[in-house]
Amino acid sequence: MDNQLPVDQLTLEAAKQEITPLKAQLTQWGKEYYEQDNPTVEDYVYDRAYERLVQIEARFPELKTSDSPTQRVGGETTSKLSKVNHEIPMLSMGDVFSLEELLAFNDRQDIDDPEYVLELKIDGLSLSLVYENGKLVQASTRGNGTIGEDVTANVKTIKSVPQELPEPLSMEFRGECYMPKKAFVKLNEEREAAGQPIFANPRNAAAGSLRQLDPSVTGKRELDTFMYYIPEYQKMGITTQAEALEKMKLLGFSVNPNYRIVHGKEDIEQYIEEYTGRRDDLAYGIDGIVEKVNDLDTQSELGNTVKVPRWEIAYKFPPEEMPTVVRDIEWTVGRTGTVTPTAVMDPVQLAGTMVSRASLHNPDYLNEKGIRLGDTVYLHKAGDIIPEVSKVDLKKRPADSQPYEIPTTCPECGADLVHLDDEVALRCVNPMCPAQIKEGLAHFVSRNAMNIDGLGPKIINQLWDKQLIHDIAGLYSLTRDQLLTLDKFGDKSATNLLTSIDNSRNNSVERLLFGLGIRHVGAKAARLIMEKFTSLDNLINASANEVSAIDGIGPTIGESVEAYFSNHQVQELIDELRAAGVNFEYLGTAPADVSDSQWNGKRVVLTGKFDFMTRGEAKEYLENHGAKVTGSVSKKTDIVIAGADAGSKLTKAQELGITVWDPSRLADAMKEEQ
Ligand code: NAD
Repeated sequence: MDNQLPVDQLTLEAAKQEITPLKAQLTQWGKEYYEQDNPTVEDYVYDRAYERLVQIEARFPELKTSDSPTQRVGGETTSKLSKVNHEIPMLSMGDVFSLEELLAFNDRQDIDDPEYVLELKIDGLSLSLVYENGKLVQASTRGNGTIGEDVTANVKTIKSVPQELPEPLSMEFRGECYMPKKAFVKLNEEREAAGQPIFANPRNAAAGSLRQLDPSVTGKRELDTFMYYIPEYQKMGITTQAEALEKMKLLGFSVNPNYRIVHGKEDIEQYIEEYTGRRDDLAYGIDGIVEKVNDLDTQSELGNTVKVPRWEIAYKFPPEEMPTVVRDIEWTVGRTGTVTPTAVMDPVQLAGTMVSRASLHNPDYLNEKGIRLGDTVYLHKAGDIIPEVSKVDLKKRPADSQPYEIPTTCPECGADLVHLDDEVALRCVNPMCPAQIKEGLAHFVSRNAMNIDGLGPKIINQLWDKQLIHDIAGLYSLTRDQLLTLDKFGDKSATNLLTSIDNSRNNSVERLLFGLGIRHVGAKAARLIMEKFTSLDNLINASANEVSAIDGIGPTIGESVEAYFSNHQVQELIDELRAAGVNFEYLGTAPADVSDSQWNGKRVVLTGKFDFMTRGEAKEYLENHGAKVTGSVSKKTDIVIAGADAGSKLTKAQELGITVWDPSRLADAMKEEQ
């Protein structure tokens, strides 16, 4: 790329030679980005190549083909989600990379005294929401602009999307679905710990999370939305984009508050400067600023090209990158044995913070980047937050540098490292590995597990180094005298810690189960399992199938639990915990025996207004009696309970011939079941 001839010096022959591989490369990158949510190059690399293609096609229009990436929106809908036709196409957006280019774009629009709205360009994926009589009936992705994917069930898990509008409108609204920065960081941490590939940025994380076949996965991903477009604005009696935004706010949509009406170069320059500076402080990622003609009729007059509207343009932020030198690669062992490399570099100032470390995630990642000690690398912040190495500057590679060798043994215990199944992560599977035991101890005492206060990593390290403890059961035989030998540990801290350890003996057993740190068993799964088995001994004797038969627990957890308890060392640990007087019983409220209830196993939908109790209370009652209460009516629904003013759900139930109950019938049935 760097040694290319400027486009105006290309002969037609040279352009022909260049354009085919260039289009193929962009198509491949587009597939990875749009269809697999897994880009392999940075956006600016894609943007630079795309811009080159635009220029070549402008100089040699005869080389422009309808399958060129410049003529197509997004990617194809390759997932198993059902397809949705967009009656009004969902377009892409042109982009510029400097204020000058933006002003030149405005000049070309040739509008007298133009008024624009500037908005933040949210780094997510476009979302279309269709309402009928005020009720959300369809949500879809952009796809290739005319055919998108149906993500209605998934979108219903997003809190900021109103299921029902305060007005009985039948129309479409568009906006962006995104993942807040915090949720993105958390998700990647979880994925890394579980040995799964991480998402490159919040945009891909949002796309990957929205385009799930199982809505409950989407529900856990903390997605959010900002709505910004009403395609059929004429139906609303509004005349400007700013009014459209305000109207959507009134309708209960989430609308980004940082938009501004502007009139000239100074206003635009000021906004760009302001948000370039504020970018890192926002709770969500933005990759630029969108400028839109404010007057909606003028927008319509300007119209669209095949790919982009002529009334809006994206100003893209320049990539913020800094060169630095890799001095070391550190390998750390996590609780589940994943061994993760981190690049340690000369400190550099990057997007507001000093950075000297960046995770290299796993050996595959490190190999792909080809990093060696002493290499000069470029650092940027993925999704504005996480420092990441983008590439190695090969020209600056020291002459005597050697390829980096991935360790084959655990840096902590020396055991051989392995790749489990088809995981990308490298693991130490030695259950006696000190690093894992220490991380395991930190997890065992954490708030959602045994909740033992006063045992931070520093103290755990000391207890380990002084050989006062060798596993979690050892906590229960610690003495005051032993604690007093620790740094900065006085009488009071010792008393507090001993009390805290002692109290934890009486925890309900789901805390213990979670605290044991069994792979795939989170706090919620631990509760579901112990509600069912009521004591640890029952669980130890259970098969994987019995565990995975619990609603909400899958075979992966079942198998993981069975494998864990069949381990000889685990059995010794359990005996030690028992001897230490740790409670093995479930002390929470056990669920009622619902096997006799008429609701057991029934799929129920509640709709309309209930008079004798709220719908939430009815839902709770039904779920406690074994029913599955769902949000939409399908062939699988057994009963729809429809109160006053029930709408499309009732109609659908009638169409499908599903039993419909009045809430008063539910009230009678409840009395009978008591
Ligand atoms: P885009 O994402 O750059 O811009 C258009 C989109 O911006 C709209 O569809 C909309 O979803 C979104 N948007 C966010 N905030 C908005 C607002 N306030 N108002 C209106 N729209 C708003 O365009 P695109 O065609 O979806 O994708 C092209 C971009 O994707 C390129 O800039 C490139 O960087 C990136 N890409 C990267 C790779 C890669 O391999 N890294 C591959 C393909 C595309």
